[in-house]
Amino acid sequence: MGTLYSHSRLSSFENCPKQFEFRYILKVPRETESVEAFVGKRVHEILERLYLFVGRGQIPGVEKVVDRYHKLWEETWDPERVRIVREGTPLAFYRELGERCLRGYYARHYPFDEDETLGIEKRVVFPLDEAGEYRMQGIIDRISRARDGTIEVHDYKTGARVPSQQRLDEDRQLALYQIGLAREYGDDVPYRLVWHFVARNQIRTSTRTPEELAVLREKTIERIDEIRRTTVFPPRKIALCNWCEYKPLCPLYAEAHPGSEAAAETPAEEARRGSVAARDVKRNEQLDLL
Ligand code: SF4
Repeated sequence: MGTLYSHSRLSSFENCPKQFEFRYILKVPRETESVEAFVGKRVHEILERLYLFVGRGQIPGVEKVVDRYHKLWEETWDPERVRIVREGTPLAFYRELGERCLRGYYARHYPFDEDETLGIEKRVVFPLDEAGEYRMQGIIDRISRARDGTIEVHDYKTGARVPSQQRLDEDRQLALYQIGLAREYGDDVPYRLVWHFVARNQIRTSTRTPEELAVLREKTIERIDEIRRTTVFPPRKIALCNWCEYKPLCPLYAEAHPGSEAAAETPAEEARRGSVAARDVKRNEQLDLL
């Protein structure tokens, strides 16, 4: 069986091929994570736990949920590993942000009877083509059946930005999950993609036509082919470089590594990289920054 691709694997290649190389080809271990990623994981874990209890008919009170969050924070916090990238932002800000996300979500959805949960943190693996040469995987935050029978694909976002409806209507991640879920729940039921922007207490939804899903399959296969053909992975400066766990190894930040690949860059290469960088700053505006 060949490589399993995922939305984040493809995004890493699209955002910066060098990061993709570090992460997926060279498999350089990630020794640090950003505090934004840390908070996001804790919020996801608490919501997963909350729905497990809801499924058993035992809805915990909001204070219990918040207490559990703070306990989990203390159990998992590691100042050696978690980095505060935005200098000057106090740690308390991030910890309170997670609490605010959970309180807002709880108040909005209590008593959690608006739909039936079908899966939590569910892993899906599915082919994009008949022959199974292009296989995807993903983990879906929550799957539910709404009262009208629609299968809903839920995703929690802890970033501050809420993308435009147009961007969400073109979003790849949840639409791919829909393709995966159709193998289980069928093509003939309606699906809805649901984003919970918990830091803003806002919900956005979108749907896909069969034609849009067919185009998505094709485009994703083309991207995988491009990755398979690629042998050189240049670094590409993006708005998220400060959040990149490989920055200390990156030739673009070579001050600490004289004589490296970046130090030998020609003016033409530098100019080309500059125009690519401008495009990517725009692309990354939608990514998850708190
Ligand atoms: S620091 Fe920036 S340019 Fe370097 S690998 Fe990471 S994302 Fe790419």
